[in-house]
Amino acid sequence: MPQVIPTPVAYPMALIFGGLGLYMLLRRHGPNLWIGVRLPWTCADRDIWDKSWRLAAMFLLGMGVSILLSAKLFFIAVAHLIILGILYPVFLYRRKYGTLRYWKGQGWIDYRPMARCARCGHFQKLASYADLGRGACEACGAKLPEPRAGLRASWPLGAKKDRNFIK
Ligand SMILES: [Zn+2]
Repeated sequence: MPQVIPTPVAYPMALIFGGLGLYMLLRRHGPNLWIGVRLPWTCADRDIWDKSWRLAAMFLLGMGVSILLSAKLFFIAVAHLIILGILYPVFLYRRKYGTLRYWKGQGWIDYRPMARCARCGHFQKLASYADLGRGACEACGAKLPEPRAGLRASWPLGAKKDRNFIK
């Protein structure tokens, strides 16, 4: 018999985690102070923010379901949320910009990306993630890495009409 979390604890928690996961799967907000995977690398790149948001939503939903089934499953889901929730954006960022460096603007969540030139290794501040692929390296003139296709136009359904959708 697997160890089960007592129902007076499990039911409200399942509602909170599952509800938040479901909400996050159906809605999407841009970087903000309250909700989402708030890391410098996600705040610096809207596409990585969106992908991390979706991953966290699925793990939260997993937490909501697993807490009703067994304590062990629940802790596995929590560990996934914490570990993969951090590793995933870090991996995406490193692949995209060639570095984990970022720089900080004025506001609380105003993190901006920095790209590493593949040819000479020069680190260059970008005004926004949308600048990747547009500019050239300041040191050697090589083209900066090409941006990869994002999630934003396709998810969630009707994202283009979403008033939270920021161009
Ligand atoms: Zn260069």
